[in-house]
Amino acid sequence: MNRADVLGILEEYGLSAKKSLGQNFLCNEEVIGEILDLAKLDKTMTCLEIGPGLGALSEKAVFMAGTYLAVEIDTRFQARLSDVITGNGGKVIYKDYLELVPADLPDPSFSPDVVLSNLPYYVMTPIMLKVMKDFPSCQRMVYMVEEEALGRILAKPCTKQYGPLAVLTELFGTKKKCFNVDGGSFVPPPNTVSSVIVIERSEQADWKPEMIGFVEGAFALRRKTLVNSLSSEGVYSKDDIASALAEMGKKENIRSEEMVPSEFSDLYRILQGRKDK
Ligand code: SAM
Repeated sequence: MNRADVLGILEEYGLSAKKSLGQNFLCNEEVIGEILDLAKLDKTMTCLEIGPGLGALSEKAVFMAGTYLAVEIDTRFQARLSDVITGNGGKVIYKDYLELVPADLPDPSFSPDVVLSNLPYYVMTPIMLKVMKDFPSCQRMVYMVEEEALGRILAKPCTKQYGPLAVLTELFGTKKKCFNVDGGSFVPPPNTVSSVIVIERSEQADWKPEMIGFVEGAFALRRKTLVNSLSSEGVYSKDDIASALAEMGKKENIRSEEMVPSEFSDLYRILQGRKDK
């Protein structure tokens, strides 16, 4: 799908891009092809796409995966997506992905191998976290993100950008920035540079969706110590957290940004172990 195609589709279906829904439609065939290559879809796989828009990725992905499901918030795209997705054996749920519940899914065992999204920038982080929560066994996520979010995903400990997104994606698996995409590859062009990133689940990773709330709690009060921040969530007492940190050989006044991702897992395991006793 190139620029002329996107403009033609917008005209044919009487559509326009809504800025409030983060709508920047891909119009670069090369980029679309590279993203689909990274998804490594085959007929044994189930693919979930979040925000198919006009179908730049979907019109090909629907033929590459065995099962293809898209979740799109904007019902104005129904006619277009019936032509390119539903008409070709895929399914579309028209809903805010952040409000998606298991009952919305085509069947209760639905579990994507691959999640694909040119993410709407205004809800990028919550969507990424919900995917890891909803589909813990997903093998690969291929996302287009804005530069600022990329920094938060790849951030290292003791830096300003280091936080839940960096920790949780690391605990999930391996992450790799693949390439940048300039504004001219979208209609309309966004203000920032975008990047394509792949997050792959690693077999060794001991991923638990409960880690999301735990790590978010640890970073909730950024200026406070980990003990103060995490205890303010009301799940673990200050004493328990401090003694778990001591067991790990960590100082009591450590801040969350000083902990490497695996240390959050260790801390969670110790605290849960004590709770379960
Ligand atoms: N995939 C298309 C492409 O690459 O050209 C469109 C990408 S556009 C950046 C983001 C898409 O996500 C839009 O179609 C928008 O309507 C949709 N979207 C925005 N917020 C959403 C949400 N909360 N849940 C599901 N879809 C959403």
